[in-house]
Amino acid sequence: MKAETDICIIGAGPVGLFAVFELGLLDMKCHLIDILDRPGGQCAELYPEKPIYDIPAYPIISGQELTDKLMEQIAPFDPVFHFDQMAIRLEKLEESERFPQGGWRVTTDQDAVIDCKVVVIAAGGGSFTPKKPALEGIEDYEGSSVFYSVRQMEKFRGKNILIAGGGDSALDWTLNLQPLAASTGLIHHRDGFRAAPDSVNKMEKLVADGKVAKHIAKLKALKGSNGQLEAVIAGSKETGDFEIPCDTLLAFYGLTMKLGPVGGFGYEVKDGLIPVDTEKFETSTPGIFAIGDINWYPGKLKLILSGFHEAALMAQQAFRICFPDRRLRFQYTTSSTDLHNKLGVAAE
Ligand code: FAD
Repeated sequence: MKAETDICIIGAGPVGLFAVFELGLLDMKCHLIDILDRPGGQCAELYPEKPIYDIPAYPIISGQELTDKLMEQIAPFDPVFHFDQMAIRLEKLEESERFPQGGWRVTTDQDAVIDCKVVVIAAGGGSFTPKKPALEGIEDYEGSSVFYSVRQMEKFRGKNILIAGGGDSALDWTLNLQPLAASTGLIHHRDGFRAAPDSVNKMEKLVADGKVAKHIAKLKALKGSNGQLEAVIAGSKETGDFEIPCDTLLAFYGLTMKLGPVGGFGYEVKDGLIPVDTEKFETSTPGIFAIGDINWYPGKLKLILSGFHEAALMAQQAFRICFPDRRLRFQYTTSSTDLHNKLGVAAE
C-alpha cells in the first residue's frame, strides 16, 4: 500500500487522535499508524473501563468513552488509519513538485509506505509489545506457527489452533476463530478467566458442546520442526505432562510497552523520551514533531490534557511547513463558518 498525505501521525492514542482535529482545523489531512488493532492507545488497551476525572468538561469519563468521543470529533476530517502495523522506518524525501520543501517517507512492518510533508510522533510509552511465553526455541516458530495477534482471520481457516491465555483477547479469539478452525483448544493455568463474563459463558458453552477443548495447565514446550508446530507439551500437578496436537499456537499473555523503532529515527532521544521545544513541540529534526507521553521538556506532565495542548501548538508549525505560501490566521472554532459547514452544524 502506498499513500501520500500532509501529515503522518505515528500512534493513534488520545493525543494522536486529537492532533487530527487540530490539524484538520487548519486544512491538513492525516494518516495514522498504530500497532494496535484499534484507536485509543493506553486508554483503550490498558484501562478502557477505568474512570478518568481530569478531562475538561467531563467530570468522569472512561478510557473507552474518551476514545469514542475523540473518534466522533475527528470523523469530519476523514483520517486514514493503518492499524495492526508498526512504523519501522523514516526516510527523508528529496524536494519534488508534491513536496517542494522535501518530505518524509514512513514505512510499516506491513509494507505500507506513506509519503508526507510532516511527521508527528505520538507514540506514547512506545510500542505495545506482546509478552511471550517462556518456551525454549519459540522464536523458530514465530510468524509461521506461533502468533501473538490476529491480523487476518482467514489465515487461520482450517488450522488446528491452541489459544493460550485467560483474558479478553484469548477469549475473544477463541470465540471468533472456532467457527473457522479445524479444531480449537484453549489453555490457561487456572480455571478462572479475567474476561467479560459474557465471553466466558459463551466459551464454556462451546466447551460443553465439544467444540472447544479447555486445558487447565501450563505450556511447557513446543514440538515440531522447521518452524512447523506439531504439538504443545503442557502440564499441571494434577495431570502431569501431556501433549496437545496443534499446528498453530496463539498466545495472548498481555502487552508491555517498549520505545521501539521511534527511538531510532535520527532525532535526539534522551532516557527513552524525545526532547522537544515548548513553542512548536518539534524534535531536533525540523519537520518531525513529538507530542504526548513520548516527548520531554522541562515541567512535562504525562497527562492527556498536556498532550492535547501540545497538539494545538504543533499544528500551527505543521501548517507553516505544509502551506508555506498561506497566511496562518488564528480563529476560534466558534467563529469559523468553514468549520460549522464541515461539522454539519448550521452557522449561527
Ligand atoms: P498512548 O496512549 O501511549 O498511545 C500511543 C500509541 O502509539 C499506542 O497505541 C502505540 O501502540 C502506538 N505506537 C507506538 N509506537 C508505534 C510505532 N512504532 N508504530 C505504530 N504505533 C506505535 N492520564 C490522564 O490524563 N488522566 C488519568 O486519569 C490517567 N489515568 C491513567 C491510568 C492508567 C492505568 C494509565 C496506564 C495511564 C493513565 N493516564 C492518565 C495516562 C494517559 O493514558 C497517557 O498520558 C495517554 O494515554 C498518553 O497518550 P498518547 O497518545 O501520548 O500515548
